[in-house]
Amino acid sequence: MSSKRTSAHPEIAVMKFGGTSVEDAAAMLRTASIVEGRVAKGLRPVVVVSAMAKVTDQLLACAAAALAGRGDREAAIEIVARLRARHLQVAGDLVKGGDRLDALQLDINRAFDGLEELVRGIAVVGELTARTSDLIVSFGERLSSVMVTAAFAERGLNSVHVDAREVILTDDHYGKAAPDEAAIERALREKVLPLATAGRVPIMGGFIGSCNGITTTLGRGGSDYTAALVGGGLHAGAIEIWTDVDGIMTTDPRICSDALRVRTISFEEAAELAYFGAKVLHPATILPAVQKNIPVFVLNSRNAANEGTRITATPPPCASPFKSIAAKKKLTIIDIVASRMLLAHGFLKMVFDIFDKHKCAIDMVSTSEVSISVTVDSRETLPAICEELGRIADVKYESDKALICLVGEDIRGQSGIAAQVFAAVSHVNIRMISQGASEINMSFMINEEDVEEAVRSLHKKFFAAPDATIFDIEARPVTSNA
Ligand code: ADP
Ligand code: ASP
Ligand code: MG
Repeated sequence: MSSKRTSAHPEIAVMKFGGTSVEDAAAMLRTASIVEGRVAKGLRPVVVVSAMAKVTDQLLACAAAALAGRGDREAAIEIVARLRARHLQVAGDLVKGGDRLDALQLDINRAFDGLEELVRGIAVVGELTARTSDLIVSFGERLSSVMVTAAFAERGLNSVHVDAREVILTDDHYGKAAPDEAAIERALREKVLPLATAGRVPIMGGFIGSCNGITTTLGRGGSDYTAALVGGGLHAGAIEIWTDVDGIMTTDPRICSDALRVRTISFEEAAELAYFGAKVLHPATILPAVQKNIPVFVLNSRNAANEGTRITATPPPCASPFKSIAAKKKLTIIDIVASRMLLAHGFLKMVFDIFDKHKCAIDMVSTSEVSISVTVDSRETLPAICEELGRIADVKYESDKALICLVGEDIRGQSGIAAQVFAAVSHVNIRMISQGASEINMSFMINEEDVEEAVRSLHKKFFAAPDATIFDIEARPVTSNA
């Protein structure tokens, strides 16, 4: 973890802008001025952008409607038409006429003609594979990146579009492809580094990649991961995740409007938070940064002057036990009861092999003499998993559960902390508890409907008198959430 800093290109800043940071022409131009600021400081930005806000959801809804057929087929075509109109509108707002606007409109119309053809094809065939679904959602990032390139050029930046699919090379696990980091590093050195060192600003879509020329995606929220892969592959000086909140906060500001900005946090803490539900960062973002010891910053594109959160290998000590509270919803608890076999050699392996076979990640595990309880967030594979588990044990499952996770390096060695946590949520029914696996998190499972109440109670208890070196207690958070 504390690997020596080997930043081969400290002047490169990988800047990732999320959906709200490119949601319309005004947001794209704000993004351009943030990038200009970095150029003015002598940095060489490499930009990664998400699809415009909500576009990925709409593309998925469109694919689902096309598959449903009949009346829904018209709904699918209608979604394509609305998306086309929105993209053309933003293009017109961004670029004031001339060849650049013509070229942009042509690109947008061509893309939507292709999308419409695809959607009609799905309706006719009545089949939607993960591979086709990836191709459909890829339009979001493909178009936003082309539009942002034009927006930057319009402001006088020397921008150049890079097709992410030529750089982010992955396996063929459509919907959640795994990157080939060595191949990505080679592609970055060949296709992106020369542009950046020549003073150009490369812009690519996040989230998308390819396997043998076929479009893939890295999974929902994957643009953060793209930024980390690009930062890692280029040995950049910094990875900046620009979003719609002031940084990593003490909890989701949508749940607690008085959440505070965390000034600095460790790689491990940020990784735990992301894994256990803090949507502000994709869980895979941290690893490439850790491997190269590249600091990651989480920043607000609507409040660019704010210094955000710095994620680093060595944050200063914190007087408060916790840095942040995350909540992950839509989980299922599976109770596996095997009265005679549990203690038998190989039983746990058989159980975990079943989850492994279905590529289903387990969030939490607890065992008793006769049973194992595990929690998972995948619903699709659940019936098949339970069917297989049913051959070796009695299986029950309960959905609509949520996991609350408190994260802090400074839990280590604090006595009585668990008692304080559970006293704060004594009115909430707790199903499973876990502490210790990483020494920096305490987690427990509750019913989904209790999440807001539990998070607010914990936040009130643990952030009433926060350490001012770590938490920004002066400014009220700018959450910009609609
Ligand atoms: P983007 O589109 O920029 O990737 P996301 O919606 O994926 O943005 O992530 C930002 C959102 O994450 C915020 O609007 C906020 O509601 C949510 N969030 C959840 N937990 C946290 C946290 N601990 N700190 C900050 N934001 C959080
Ligand atoms: N647009 C993709 C999504 O909404 C990826 C991202 O924004 O990170 O999941
Ligand atoms: Mg995101």
